[in-house]
Amino acid sequence: MDSERALADMLKSVPWSKLDRNYILGEEVPGRVVELVRGPLAEARREAADSLYCAVANQGVLSETSPFVARILVQTLRLDICVDREPVYYVLQAIQECRAWRVRDDAIGERLFVDSRSAIEAGWVTFLADLHRLDLTLYPSLLLLLEDFAAKRLEVLAHLREEVCRTDGATKRLVTEAYAGALEHAQQHTVDPEACFCGEVFWLTAESVARAAPETEGVAVQPRWQPGL
Ligand SMILES: [Zn+2]
Repeated sequence: MDSERALADMLKSVPWSKLDRNYILGEEVPGRVVELVRGPLAEARREAADSLYCAVANQGVLSETSPFVARILVQTLRLDICVDREPVYYVLQAIQECRAWRVRDDAIGERLFVDSRSAIEAGWVTFLADLHRLDLTLYPSLLLLLEDFAAKRLEVLAHLREEVCRTDGATKRLVTEAYAGALEHAQQHTVDPEACFCGEVFWLTAESVARAAPETEGVAVQPRWQPGL
């Protein structure tokens, strides 16, 4: 099958056994990726997700395998070869949340951080397409990932707002929450970016955030991060 072949080729191109990783053997990583992406049973996919979490994002710590896994998972989403996209998003979001690394040399660690994030960001167009086409009640990790991107890519606010207007019931509640989280994240970069959970320190002006956020009526925003606390 073409999708199996595509995944096998991507996995073969990485020297897994030479890479440092958290808790599971490097050689085990490709097998877990196959289970995560192609596993026929939901339970096996969930176990693979947990195991990959330990390998690439354990407690917010990146390993040398993280950028490789991120790049391959984004590619599986793009090629649409995942049995279920949610556990794939779960692992990607966990990598995106990492702010520390397992290697001793900080220059290498910073490279892992930058490479992992740019590997994920390369899937941006796919994430937005998924936001507008999937039943979002089944994809909480996609919404969390988009909240993470909200400061760096302010246009996510308009995309989330579009879904708030388009949906109803449970989906509307979830997307409204995600929109509030995304807006809060962007606003954090107007007051104290160094304290932001995303780990990327850059300033935004309040005007640019207000311009990017369509009217916020009905969206309760409770700042999670307050300067000085
Ligand atoms: Zn941030």
